[in-house]
Amino acid sequence: MKKAIFPGSFDPFTIGHYDIVNRGLKLFDHITIGIGRNSVKKETFPIRERLNAIQKIFGDDPRVDVQIYDCLTVDFAKQVDAQFILRGIRCVEDFEYERNMAEANKQLGDIETILLYTRPEYAHISSTLVRDLYSYNKDVSAFVPNKLK
Ligand code: ADP
Repeated sequence: MKKAIFPGSFDPFTIGHYDIVNRGLKLFDHITIGIGRNSVKKETFPIRERLNAIQKIFGDDPRVDVQIYDCLTVDFAKQVDAQFILRGIRCVEDFEYERNMAEANKQLGDIETILLYTRPEYAHISSTLVRDLYSYNKDVSAFVPNKLK
C-alpha cells in the first residue's frame, strides 16, 4: 500500500491544498494530512480548529486522515508508516525551499518527496492571502474548499 503524508501548517486549508490532496490520491492509496506544530510561524487559527475543518472537508473518506504532529516530519512519516512526503509548489521560491526539505528528509529518514505543481489558476492562492481577507472580514469563499464556505 502506497502511503504519503501531506505535511503543512494549513493555517487555513485552501483550495490549493485541497487540489494537491485530490491529485495525490491518484498516486497514493492513503494520505495522512499532518498539521505540524510550528514553533517559528505564528498561528492564526487554533490548531484544533484547523484539524476539525480539514476533517470536515474529507468527511469519512477512508483514504484520508488528519493528524496533528509535534516532531520531525520524517519521524511523523515513520509513525504513520508512510513511504512518501507529498508537497506542492507554486513558484521558484517554493521550489528552492522544497528541494532543501526534500534533500534533508531523504538524508534523515530515507524518504522520497513527491512534488506536484500547482494548477496555474491556484498559483496565487496561499494561506496568507486567506488570512488577510479574514482579517478584513472579506469573502474568502473563492479560496477555500466548498465544505468550508
Ligand atoms: P508550510 O508552512 O509547511 O509551507 P503550508 O500549509 O503553507 O505549509 O503549505 C503546505 C504545502 O502546500 C506546501 O508544499 C505548499 O507549497 C503547498 N501549497 C500551498 N498552497 C498551494 C497552492 N495554491 N497550490 C499548490 N500547492 C500549494
